Amino acid sequence: MSFSQSAADIFAPDGAPLPVTLKRTTHLCIAAHQDDIEIMAYHGIAACYGRDDRGFTGVVVTDGAGSPRAGAFAALSDEQMKAVRAEEQRQAARVGQYSVVIQLAHPSAVVKTSSGEPVRRDLAEILRECSPQVVYLHNPADKHDTHVAVFLRSLEALRQLPRDRRPKKVLGCEGWRDLDWLPDDDKRPLDVSAQPDLAVELLGCFQSQITGGKRYDLATMGRRLANATFHASHAIDRHAALTWAMDLTPLVQDDRLPVEPFILRFIDRLRDDVAARLRKFSA
Ligand SMILES: [Zn+2]
Repeated sequence: MSFSQSAADIFAPDGAPLPVTLKRTTHLCIAAHQDDIEIMAYHGIAACYGRDDRGFTGVVVTDGAGSPRAGAFAALSDEQMKAVRAEEQRQAARVGQYSVVIQLAHPSAVVKTSSGEPVRRDLAEILRECSPQVVYLHNPADKHDTHVAVFLRSLEALRQLPRDRRPKKVLGCEGWRDLDWLPDDDKRPLDVSAQPDLAVELLGCFQSQITGGKRYDLATMGRRLANATFHASHAIDRHAALTWAMDLTPLVQDDRLPVEPFILRFIDRLRDDVAARLRKFSA
């Protein structure tokens, strides 16, 4: 299997060859940046951790060159930063016992500006070789351009699969913008209470980001706790940590379903919910 970028990096913590790692994949996350996987798809990592019958695979589309840097990382060139971030991602794969992590090393600008063909082709190659039950993607209402571009390329690649080989569950996850705004009926709760030490350790692998002045580690754990606590006002917390997801499976099952009206329907339902509650108590 060959990828478009010569710098693409394939790392299986147990040294298994790529075809084997893809074959054993049951949970797959396709993300834009190093550390996105650990923020958005911990649910899948934890589901596979320590299990012989499951495998978690992470795909990172971009090369990590453009990230802000400070402290010990302030003087690093883009090339050095790419190397640091790639190793941080490999370390997370070791800690989380992933089946494999594939870093496709596309420059972020190319992901956002080109036709998307090289990214789509790389993702289609990976998808052809694996049959995940669950796929975690960025959600289409995310506010980061690269996340949305990667989501669209992922969807296109998934739609290239024969219909009977498409995953049964595809989830859009929280990243730059959480999903607390989804009306409750549209929320897909992912219980991420399992092994909190593992969750913290995974987020801590990305020191170049955290010491750059962005406490993604604390913010991510905080968001999971906030989701669990603020979910239901009249019920005690059933989970210690929750991630919200959006069910994107209909988009993957139906090639003709356009993304924009699909996502705008969720926003319309939020609008209706707010208006209805106000009307209920208006004089
Ligand atoms: Zn990201």
